[in-house]
Amino acid sequence: MRYISTRGQAPARDFAGVLLAGLAEDGGLFMPETWPTLSHADLRALRGLPYPELAARVMQPFIGDAVPFAKLQTICRDAYANFAHPAVVPLVQLDTTLWSMELFHGPTLAFKDMAMQVLGRLFDHVLTARNERVTIVGATSGDTGSAAIEACRDRSRVDIAILHPAGRTSEVQRRQMTTVNAANVANIAVDGTFDDCQDLVKAMFADTAFRTDMHLSAVNSINWARIAAQIPYYIHAALALGAPEREVAFSVPTGNFGNVLAAWAARRMGLPVARLVVASNRNDILSRFLAGNDMSMAPVEPSLSPSMDIQVSSNFERLLFELLDRDPAATAAAMTGFRSTGRMEVPHTAWQRATTLMHGFRLDDEGTLAEIRRLDRECGYLADPHSAIGIAAARALPCTHHTPTIAAATAHPAKFPDAMEQATGRRPPLPKHLADLYERPEHFTTAPNDLDAIEAQVRAFAYRNAA
Ligand SMILES: *Cc1c(COP(=O)(O)O)cnc(C)c1O
Repeated sequence: MRYISTRGQAPARDFAGVLLAGLAEDGGLFMPETWPTLSHADLRALRGLPYPELAARVMQPFIGDAVPFAKLQTICRDAYANFAHPAVVPLVQLDTTLWSMELFHGPTLAFKDMAMQVLGRLFDHVLTARNERVTIVGATSGDTGSAAIEACRDRSRVDIAILHPAGRTSEVQRRQMTTVNAANVANIAVDGTFDDCQDLVKAMFADTAFRTDMHLSAVNSINWARIAAQIPYYIHAALALGAPEREVAFSVPTGNFGNVLAAWAARRMGLPVARLVVASNRNDILSRFLAGNDMSMAPVEPSLSPSMDIQVSSNFERLLFELLDRDPAATAAAMTGFRSTGRMEVPHTAWQRATTLMHGFRLDDEGTLAEIRRLDRECGYLADPHSAIGIAAARALPCTHHTPTIAAATAHPAKFPDAMEQATGRRPPLPKHLADLYERPEHFTTAPNDLDAIEAQVRAFAYRNAA
C-alpha cells in the first residue's frame, strides 16, 4: 500500500514511512492511494472473530509489507490484552435501537488507547527493522499524552517526552501521565499554558539541528496509523448488529475528526453505514458546516468535554480531499484559504455530498449534564460528558426506520468525576487497575517556558537512554 499527500506536492510513501513521518512534507495529510475494499462475503468472514484478530485482518491491507501478518496478529493481541473488558470493545444496549460502543476500557480510560496501544508496538517493529530510535515529543492538556505514554512505556526503540502546563490539567489526567515510572518516559511540567506547550513542541520540530539529532517524531491525531487502527471497531460493532445484511448508523463525539473519519473509511471500504452523526459541544464548527456549509473559525470555548474543545479539526482535510474527488490542488487551496481567512469555501456539490451521509449535532454544557442525568435515571447508565454528547446526538437522529444506531463512548466516566458529580450527585470510582492512582508516586521535572531549557532536558534524557 502506498500513501499520497492530500496536497499533492510530497512524494508517495509506504506505511512505515507514513507511520514515522506523521505529516507530509507539503503540509498535507497522507491518504491511501487506493481504498482496500471488503465484499459482503469478506465482512461475513470477519463476524464472530475475537477483536484483536478482526483488527489485524482489517488493518493488514493498510500496512502491507511493513509488518508480516503473523507479527501484526501478535501486535494486536498484545495491544488489547491489557484492556479491562474481555470483549475489548463491548456494546451496551440503551434502547430498542441504540447501543453504546465502549471504547474506554484501555489503560488510560479513553478511546485514544485503541489506536495508541497498536501504534507504540508498530513503532518498535518498524524501528527495529531499520535499527533506529526516535524521540517522540508532544504537548497535552488531556487524554492524548497519557495514552501516548502508556503506549510507549517499555518500548525499546522509543523515548517519549510529554509537556504539560503545570497546574492546568485535571488531577486524574496529570497522574495518569506522571505515575508511569519508566526510563524512556519524561514528563515535563512547563510553567505556562497548553498553548505555550504546543508552541514549544512546534519550535523543537522547527529547530532542524535538534530535530535531526533527536530523531524527533510525533504520534498526534493526523498520523494515518491511528486512523487505520480505529477502523476495525466500527466493523466489529456493525457485524454484531446484523451487518452486512442490515445497515447501521454511527454517532461519534468529535474533536479532531479522526474518529469520524475512521467510521467514514469503514463505509468507504464497504461497510453498509446509513448515517454518520458528527457530534460536537459548543465548539461547533463541524455541525455549522454540515447544517449550512458554514466552515468558519470561532474562538475555542472551554466545556465539560475538553477533548472536543477544538475549532480546527485537522483530519477534516482528509474528508475534504475525498469530497473534492481527490483533487490535491483544490484541497491545498481550500486549506490555505481557511488558514488565512478563517473561512473555508467548500463547493456546493461537495457539501451536498457530505450531507447525504453526515448529520451535525451540537450540545452545550447544560444539555450535556441533562443527558448524563437522564441516562443515569432512565437507563442506569453512566456516560462521561463526551460519550453523553454522542448518545444525545444518536437520539436526535431523524427516524431511521429501526436502523441500529451505535454511539461511540470515548471516555470512562471516572475520568471526569467533577462533571459526573454535577450531573448525578455521585463521583464514579476508578476501575480496579487504577484504584490506587491517587496514592502512586509522581515522576516529573519542571521547566520554565523556554525553548533552550526544554531542549536541554530532552537532549539529556534521550542521550541517557541511547547510551
Ligand atoms: C480525543 C477525544 C475525542 C475526539 O476524538 P477525535 O478523533 O479527535 O475527533 C472525543 N472524546 C474523547 C474522550 C477524546 O479523548
